[in-house]
This record gives sequence, C-alpha cells and structure tokens, in this order.
Amino acid sequence: MSDFDIVVIGGGPGGYGAALYAASAGLKVALVSDNDLGGTCLNRGCIPAKSLLQTAEVLRNAQHAGDFGIVPNADPKGFKADWKQVSRRTTGVVDKLVGGLGGLLKQRKVEVINGHGQLDANGQVKVGKRSLSSRAVIIATGSQPKSIPGFAVDGKTIVTSDHTSRGDTLPKRIAIIGGGVIGVEFASVYADVGVETTLLEALPTAVLPVGPDEEIAKVLAKALAKRGVKVLGGARVSAPKKTAKGLQLDYETAAGKGSVEVDQVLVAIGRAPVTEGLGLQAAGVQVDERGFIKVDATTLATTCKGVYAIGDVIKTPGLAHVAYAEAVAAVQSILGERPTAVDYGRVPFVVYTHPEVAWVGMSEAEAKAAKLDFEVRKFRFAGNGRAMILGETDGMVKVIAAKNGPLLGVHMVGPWVSELLAENYLAVNWQALPGEVGAFIHPHPSLSEAVGEVMLSFTGRSLHYHG
Ligand code: FAD
Ligand code: NAD
Repeated sequence: MSDFDIVVIGGGPGGYGAALYAASAGLKVALVSDNDLGGTCLNRGCIPAKSLLQTAEVLRNAQHAGDFGIVPNADPKGFKADWKQVSRRTTGVVDKLVGGLGGLLKQRKVEVINGHGQLDANGQVKVGKRSLSSRAVIIATGSQPKSIPGFAVDGKTIVTSDHTSRGDTLPKRIAIIGGGVIGVEFASVYADVGVETTLLEALPTAVLPVGPDEEIAKVLAKALAKRGVKVLGGARVSAPKKTAKGLQLDYETAAGKGSVEVDQVLVAIGRAPVTEGLGLQAAGVQVDERGFIKVDATTLATTCKGVYAIGDVIKTPGLAHVAYAEAVAAVQSILGERPTAVDYGRVPFVVYTHPEVAWVGMSEAEAKAAKLDFEVRKFRFAGNGRAMILGETDGMVKVIAAKNGPLLGVHMVGPWVSELLAENYLAVNWQALPGEVGAFIHPHPSLSEAVGEVMLSFTGRSLHYHG
C-alpha cells in the first residue's frame, strides 16, 4: 500500500492547484515544495507584478485628478511613489495570499513537505532521505528567467523580474531587454513612476511581437511611447559596459547603431523550464531539445508510467491559469476519468499594462495565414460612454469571425479589457456566432457594450456601431 495517492513536486499554481483539486476529490496528497509555497506566481510573478501596476495606476490617477475636477491644495503632479512603501504593500499582499494558501492546503489535509523533491529510478519521489511511495506523481517545478551571455545577473545593476517584482529601490534609468509580456508590464510601471525607460526587442515589432493582433499591440506601443518610453524593435544588444555613472548599452537596429546609458538593465527574454536535479533521466522521463518535459497533450502523462507534468515545466503557454487547467486534467487522468483537455488555441491571455491588452483565439494575421474565409469588425472605446466617463478612450474590441460562421478570436486593448475577456473567452470557446452574443443585453453604461455593439454589427444591423 502506498503512502499517498499523489505526490506533487513544486508548490506553484500548477502544483498547489493539483494538490487542492486532488484533495477535493478525496485523494491523499503530499506537496513537496522547496520553501517557496505559491511559486513564481505568488512570490515573484503575477501577484507582486500586478500589485506594482496597481500602484502605478493610483499614482497616474492622482496626477490626473484635476482632469475630473478634483483640485488639491498642492500641485496635482506633486505625487510620487515611495518605493519602500510600495514594496511593503506588495509584500503584504503576497504574504496574505501565501498564508491563505497554506491554510487551505491544511484544511484539505494535504501534507506539505518542505525540501527538494526528486524521482528515483522507479518514478517514486525522494525528499532528502525520505521516500514517498504513491500511485502517481505530478511534476510542477516551473520555470526560471533566461539569461543572455555577457549579461551577468547580479540582482543590482543587471536584474530579472525576480528582482524587480520585489525590490525596494527604483533606478532612475532602465533598459529593458525583451518586449514580451514581462518587458511591457514593467515598462508600463516605470513609465508611470518616472523611470527613464528604454525597451529593446530583438524582433522587428517592438511591443508584444508574439500573441496579440498587431493592430492591438500598436495601441499599447503608442501609449508607452506617449508616456516617454523609448521603444526600439529589431534591436541587437551588446553586453553592457561599466561607465562612471552607470552602464552603457550599445545596440544596433535597422536605423543604425545606438547607445544608451542606464543604471539598471532588466533582462526579460523569456523563461526556461526547471528540471535540474530531478532524476528525470533515471526515471525515463524524456525532455525535448529545449528542456521541457514531454507530455501527452490530453492526459499530461510523461514517458514514465504514473508520472505526469504540468505548468511552466512543459511547453504550453506559461500562465498560472493554464497551469491550473493542466492540474485539473492531470488529476482527472490519474483518477481514470476523461480529462478536460486544455484547448491551447483558445486560452485567455491578459497583459496588465496601461492600457490593458487581452485576447483569446486567432488574430487577423493568424486567420489570414490559415487561409480562412473570415470577417473582421472593430468597436473603438472612443464611441463608448463608460470609457469617456473613465477618461480612457484609447483602444478597441476587434472581433475575427468566420464568414457567416462562429467566432475565431477576440483581441482587445483599452480600459478593463482584462475583465471583458471572460465573456469573450466563453463565446469563442463555445464557438458562438457573433450575432448570438450581440443578442444578449449588455448593461448601459458599461465597457461591455463595446463587445455587444461589435457582435451585433455582424448581423448587418446595429445600434451605435461606427465601423
Ligand atoms: P512555478 O510558479 O514556477 O512554481 C514551481 C515551484 O516549484 C517553485 O516554487 C519552485 O521553487 C519549486 N520547485 C522547483 N523544483 C523543485 C524541486 N525539485 N522540489 C521542490 N520544489 C521545486 N501568469 C499569469 O497567468 N498571469 C500573470 O499575470 C503573470 N504574471 C507574471 C509576472 C512575472 C514577473 C512572471 C515571472 C511570471 C508571470 N506569470 C503570470 C507566469 C506564472 O507565474 C507562471 O506561469 C506560473 O507561476 C507557473 O506555475 P508553475 O506551478 O508551473 O511553476
Ligand atoms: P516572452 O516570451 O513573452 O517575451 C520575451 C521577448 O524577448 C520576446 O519578444 C523575444 O523576441 C525577446 N527577446 C529574446 N531574446 C532577446 C534578445 N537577446 N534581445 C532582445 N529581445 C529578445 O517572455 P517574458 O516576457 O520573459 O515572459 C516569460 C513568461 O512569463 C511568459 O510565459 C509569460 O506568459 C509569463 N508572464 C505572463 C504575464 C501575464 O500573463 N500577464 C505577465 C508576465 C509574464
């Protein structure tokens, strides 16, 4: 008889999600966590990064209070961020969530074992001298920031998001390498709190080159540039050189050679799976050429019987909510049920910048590349009453639908599109017709009317749609 039904290695969203779900199904579960309960997401990812973005929003709103007729005694631009206090607040949010998670795991009777987990040759887990026998194992060891040769990360002048999401000092000038999700979220924070920011992306499109519809990403690029971020696409950066006042970063773009002096360089060029010291080879768990654990896309089973892998350690979108969905599917597989397979082509994505970007399904370029017969319609927030009330009229809801057929994708940029995504996620995954969504009532005045209006316009009739 085994000690546990399931042993999970890694206490991030994938791992704790699997432990909570399995325990709720009545299974006996152990969660092996290397003193990092909550993983990247809670401790140095989603939660602290979004807390900083919220700080940036409060400051931006305070500075623009005058636009709404709020007149302070002092200069309305007289607000600034005290980064020590900002960091303390962020730590408070993280601690509360990690504490709550610990309580929930205890309530579900999950045994949390602190230490480094690894597989033995039989696919069972060892933590130090302790062996944990189980019917199944789930590997959820996550990912870590990638680095560039010549950029020695020291946590002070050359940093990754591990440092910027929890640090209590701000540089005056920063260069961000990589215009992906992490790069633009931090560029958005820094633009608002007055850090001189240069964003250098290797691909020709500087801002979010992969993922959202190009027209959507352009709105964010413009908004960042308007707030003073220097945005450079097609940039090849050389290793930074020390100067008397900071670091000199040389780069080359299609426009020629350039150079920028900064106090800090943030390397945000993607993340790599964590698989070292896991005993994968001995257990017969295969990895691909980039080190991601190979799994069956439906069951999440690895090449070793009884061992499953989920989250950032496999080659699927590196998102906490994808890790949760994979956790559910892996536990269902272990239970012998038909797993709720993740539809990776219709996953919801949100970038919490100002303005926010959110999407699900195909972009216009992807529909074109797939040679589909499709139609595109947009509704700009400039024509939405609630957006005007908020003073946030930049952006749009862009819908891609098969000609006379179901929705293929919805890509948005603008106020609270992170929250507008839920309806669109359901509609795209339900393969609804745009007219079916347009027939539902959207409350007035609300940002969601932009969705209702554009969907209704696919029927050839409309209310306020203006093309
Ligand atoms: P992780 O969260 O990395 O957790 C893995 C855990 O396993 C870690 O605690 C690690 O220390 C532990 N571990 C590793 N090896 C062992 C071992 N041998 N034994 C025991 N423990 C081990 N995603 C979103 O969906 N929304 C966001 O807004 C968002 N923002 C982000 C912002 C930043 C700055 C970053 C870096 C990431 C962000 N992400 C976001 C991505 C998200 O954090 C990851 O997709 C998610 O954390 C993956 O979960 P995971 O459980 O697979 O791995
Ligand atoms: P990313 O893959 O999104 O972006 C990395 C960018 O760096 C790419 O655009 C790439 O072309 C560029 N790049 C690579 N090498 C370069 C070089 N040498 N010079 C210049 N540019 C270079 O990766 P990320 O932004 O590091 O994010 C890592 C992970 O964290 C992703 O899986 C992401 O989904 C997740 N994350 C999600 C959120 C969110 O959901 N809101 C927020 C932050 C992070």
